[in-house]
Amino acid sequence: VIDVLVGGAGPAGLAMASACARLGLRTTLVAPRPSAPWPATYGLWADEAPLLPDGARHTTARARVHADGERWLTRGYAVLDNESVREGLTHPAVAVHEGRLEDWPDGAKVVIDATGARRPADGTSTQATRRSAEQTAFGVVVDAEVAAPLVRPGEAVFMDWRQPCAGPATFLYAIPRPDGRVLLEETSLAHRPGLGLSELRTRLLTRLIASGVDPGDAPVDRVRFPLERPAPRPGVIPFGAAAGLVHPATGYSLADSLRLAPAVASAIHRAGPAGARRAATRVLWSPAARAVYRLRRAGLGTLLALPADRTAEFFALFFALPPRLQRAFLTEREHLAGVVAAMATMFANASPPLRRTMALHSCWARH
Ligand SMILES: Cc1cc2nc3c(=O)[nH]c(=O)nc-3n(C[C@H](O)[C@H](O)[C@H](O)COP(=O)(O)OP(=O)(O)OC[C@H]3O[C@@H](n4cnc5c(N)ncnc54)[C@H](O)[C@@H]3O)c2cc1C
Repeated sequence: VIDVLVGGAGPAGLAMASACARLGLRTTLVAPRPSAPWPATYGLWADEAPLLPDGARHTTARARVHADGERWLTRGYAVLDNESVREGLTHPAVAVHEGRLEDWPDGAKVVIDATGARRPADGTSTQATRRSAEQTAFGVVVDAEVAAPLVRPGEAVFMDWRQPCAGPATFLYAIPRPDGRVLLEETSLAHRPGLGLSELRTRLLTRLIASGVDPGDAPVDRVRFPLERPAPRPGVIPFGAAAGLVHPATGYSLADSLRLAPAVASAIHRAGPAGARRAATRVLWSPAARAVYRLRRAGLGTLLALPADRTAEFFALFFALPPRLQRAFLTEREHLAGVVAAMATMFANASPPLRRTMALHSCWARH
């Protein structure tokens, strides 16, 4: 007998399966390669690190941004040691199987879809058929001494918007990894469709050469994922990126998945199979969370429409916001007043052309 079947062995799937097992629910997890290491280098804000499971390791750094000038952020940044996080999210009572969620025979009382954001469109809605906006990045993993001209030990570059060459605006993301090496990545925050990885590679190499960094034959890191909510699978409870937990204007979801897994598991436990889906939806999508999501999508609308020569101004305005408003927009998915205040302050302080872009393209959020 299976109380809960979880599809997916990413951070959301493991967090949900272990939260269910901790409540005594008989839990099974299915994924094509359930023991495969996570390929991504994951980061979150240092103040979110307490959400990590016991025994999880991470490295922290002071983080700075560069838009109209250099600015140190008040929040530290944490980069995860994936294996220790995976171990911490592995509960011995969870039965693990290799396979695909859709091939699992019927029989589980509750099915949770944590299969990530990639889903063929189901063709039933405009949202599903339109190609999603994507975040893409190309990076290299180099020794700390090699990266030193760009980022010093104990530091992270959250965003450097100085452009290496003409073309679409991209930024450098440079973070120290727990293995002592440094990820130097050229990132396209949001583009529809995502900016090509070969273009990002060229931009990264141009930037590195200009800074005197020689990556040699360093291992590479490729990133491409959709920013918009995927079409839901019928009859299952979505969680993680599959549930639209990815912040549409930043691409982050990990901390929210870790934060919400125990609450969703408890709601399912209390509600029982008949009411599980509704109970989970109530936890995930309170009226405030829905409203914040719409505003974040308005932010994505602005990002997609932002001319390259306005990007530095836009991010200079964002990082000039009081830290509590930056935090509200970036990480507080139910802090409606904070997100409204952040966006209204940006709008009030923007130049007329930027304000026009923000006003015109946030209309997109209504669809
Ligand atoms: C390279 C990269 C770097 C990122 N960096 C960050 C970051 O630093 N911080 C952050 O917050 N977010 C980051 N994100 C965004 C987002 O948080 C991640 O995509 C995160 O992995 C989403 O977690 P998830 O568990 O929901 O889905 P995923 O990690 O995508 O896991 C999905 C799981 O489902 C399995 N699966 C797929 N199809 C099926 C199926 N049919 N049946 C069963 N199982 C299936 C997959 O094998 C996988 O195990 C990054 C994304 C990428 C791609």
